[in-house]
Amino acid sequence: MLYKALFITMSTSKIYLSSPHMGGSEQEFVNEAFATNWIAPLGPNVTGFEEDIKKYLQKNTDFNAPQQEIEVAALSSGTAALHLALILLDVQPGDEVICQSLTFSASANPIVYVGATPVFIDSEEETWNMCPIHLEAAIVDRIAKGKKPKAIIGVHLYGMPFQVEKIVAIAKKYEIALVEDSAEALGSTYKGQKCGTFGDLSILSFNGNKIITTSGGGALITKTKAEKDKAVFLATQARDQAPHYEHSEIGYNYRMSNVCAGIGRGQMQVLDAHVALRRKNNFFYTQLFKNINSVRIFMEPNKTYVSNHWLSCIVIDKKMSNGIGPTEVRLALEKENIESRPLWKPMHLQPIFKDAPYYGSRVAENLFHNGLCLPSASNLTSADLHRIEKTIRHCFNN
Ligand SMILES: *Cc1c(COP(=O)(O)O)cnc(C)c1O
Repeated sequence: MLYKALFITMSTSKIYLSSPHMGGSEQEFVNEAFATNWIAPLGPNVTGFEEDIKKYLQKNTDFNAPQQEIEVAALSSGTAALHLALILLDVQPGDEVICQSLTFSASANPIVYVGATPVFIDSEEETWNMCPIHLEAAIVDRIAKGKKPKAIIGVHLYGMPFQVEKIVAIAKKYEIALVEDSAEALGSTYKGQKCGTFGDLSILSFNGNKIITTSGGGALITKTKAEKDKAVFLATQARDQAPHYEHSEIGYNYRMSNVCAGIGRGQMQVLDAHVALRRKNNFFYTQLFKNINSVRIFMEPNKTYVSNHWLSCIVIDKKMSNGIGPTEVRLALEKENIESRPLWKPMHLQPIFKDAPYYGSRVAENLFHNGLCLPSASNLTSADLHRIEKTIRHCFNN
């Protein structure tokens, strides 16, 4: 009886899309915070974590990549980091901010927090990210309509870098600030330079499902110490210099706590290992789908790009698969207690953003209809992968 019960729990334990994966030393940093009573926000783990991230982002993987001057502010979430980025850029009510449409809603919501209007841009086929052609067309059209956009939010979706050079060049040409949403792309590189260092301001997320986690957290990456200091000032209730509480600006409670930062310090020690494991999962799927012609796996277009493959994704051509589409695969996996998920639903198709301007055609929309994210955690076991493979092969009669 006992063996049977054990077998059932083992064979049906849920495989998640992207679960947290602790490395081992996280608890030591957290214990240290307890031992020294640094439970209150701020403290040595916050500074240490910021320093770890800074060093990591500055470490190029290509000898020719330029060295970056950056500063890091650890915050309570990636969303908070985006909110502060828009405040630092002085985005005001009535302003317009350009944003990639195919993304998680947290990329776009902060535009609304500051009272601005999002202008959404379609994706291109190669990286699934912001299409430079539609981006430029949108800027030209918004300017012609009398309003130059205040900022551009580009996203490295599922860890895949966007077309960095083209997007940066357009931002420069029109003198519009680039905010780099690198929430999903910690560890990814473009021409040997780390994602999170390309924007005028960039953000990271350490939410529970991301490549590393602090159980909830984020970071703002700035180019100057002054910008970092301003972000930290705003994130800690905007207290002016005075013995009492004096305020001449609206503040926020957005700083990361010292306990969470302790988890982050431990996670930084295993970040590269986790990137390697996610990339290994991606290789597993490449092999799995090699002979399934109706399925295309989402890959780097060339060696310029290195994705952390935070999530491994596929698109299915239903015309070639006897009617097997993402829904059929998702439900088959669900039956086996395996989580998968449709791609992000584009923002311009979301009820809440239906009146926002949109520039593009149907690239993002088609990806949404034909794509699927597959289990991609760095702690998937070979038994997990076997279960996934069996279910998928069965689906495609392969
Ligand atoms: C997760 C995520 C965010 C938000 O980060 P949080 O830490 O969850 O607030 C923003 N943008 C993208 C693309 C994300 O995936």
